Amino acid sequence: MALDRNVVPNDLNAFWMPFTANRQFKKAPRMFVAAEGMFYTTADGRQVLDGTAGLWCCNAGHKRPRIVEAIQKQAAELDYAPAFQMGHPKAFELANRIIDIAPKGIEHVFYTNSGSESVETALKLAIAYHRARGEGTRTRLIGRERGYHGVNFGGISVGGIVNNRKFFGTMLAGVDHLPHTHLPENAFTKGQPEHGAHLADDLERIIALHGPETIAAVIVEPMAGSTGVLLPPKGYLEKLRAITKKHGILLIFDEVITGFGRLGSAFAAQHYDVLPDMMTTAKGLTNGVIPMGAVLTTAEVHDAFMQGPEHMIELFHGYTYSGNPIAAACGIATLETYKEEGLFERAAELAPYWQEALHSLKGLPHVIDIRNEGLIGAVELEPIAGEPTKRAFSAFLECYEKGVLIRTTGDIIAMSPPLIIEKEHIDQLIGTLGDVLKSLA
Ligand code: PMP
Repeated sequence: MALDRNVVPNDLNAFWMPFTANRQFKKAPRMFVAAEGMFYTTADGRQVLDGTAGLWCCNAGHKRPRIVEAIQKQAAELDYAPAFQMGHPKAFELANRIIDIAPKGIEHVFYTNSGSESVETALKLAIAYHRARGEGTRTRLIGRERGYHGVNFGGISVGGIVNNRKFFGTMLAGVDHLPHTHLPENAFTKGQPEHGAHLADDLERIIALHGPETIAAVIVEPMAGSTGVLLPPKGYLEKLRAITKKHGILLIFDEVITGFGRLGSAFAAQHYDVLPDMMTTAKGLTNGVIPMGAVLTTAEVHDAFMQGPEHMIELFHGYTYSGNPIAAACGIATLETYKEEGLFERAAELAPYWQEALHSLKGLPHVIDIRNEGLIGAVELEPIAGEPTKRAFSAFLECYEKGVLIRTTGDIIAMSPPLIIEKEHIDQLIGTLGDVLKSLA
């Protein structure tokens, strides 16, 4: 069917699309014009099952009435208010509600507008935290290979994705990387893999190299999402926590994907029972509907500023839209929806069915690994020699034609459906992917 040209403009040139091969896309555009529940409607009038919750963010599905109403009401009541030297009630209320579901020990919320901004904020807070405590030499940051921490300079510096760094010149100084945890011996593990906790020991090597008194923080995704659903090996996060604690280094979990129910708990920190000093969030905080992120911190991090030197009580950091009223109202309605519908518990309940469905693809052509946890999963394909990413991208295009949305990163197919998904949708998603894999060259 042709695109509805009453809806889609004829000229697509002006919008420079992010993370998209613009020339190819504009020759054969894929457009969504509406969404409800588990489904998108395309501009050529088809229903597409959302297998990725948008971009890992629409955890309650689409066009949820409570969220729509909250935004409309807030826009008509208080559309904008600054958060610098002024406040409005909804930003405080949302912060309280986030803390209600956060791991015990996490007590404060600093608002941003995205995951990338949450990462920058957390890195800056980490350095300033040590300074407030009289340890201004602690400025080094440690990330991890295959880590994704957004696209700003701090985030791509601690991140470990070559493509995201290679065009952009000088990175942040004083950054080291831990090795990634993707080991071939863990292939086809269901849930957390057995092998690889020892990879956390590399942190001791980096600390010995520079001296602990130079290191501010370690940042990792507890489960790396956008580089292919790389799960933490059993014992790995615990080790990172023990080593950072021993050396007075802050541990930051980037929970932009894992936050708000993806793994069957509110946060991965609870799922894996490891408490970081800070957590970066975004996406599911507002169901992806209004841009908003937040850095969550322990009382210790926050109090280092409040009880530190007088000149550090005002933090010289923040955004025009930090705690924006419409975003805050959207966040409150989102958290209410998660709670009332028990969506985090639902993710945990559906996880075994999801796991079995995903792993039923084992043995299909080109499949070299399958990984899963909560309601997230990945199918890794063998790359075509000399044409990396091509096979998975073909699968993505085919799936879209057949009415399901998946996401690819390199040769990995990732899926993270809204937590309202029904078993029949899981069957449709995995069944369609299976058919596509069988038919791929
Ligand atoms: N951190 C992680 C772990 C992410 O997955 C993402 C986005 N996928 C980000 C940060 C960046 O978030 P945003 O695109 O909202 O800036």
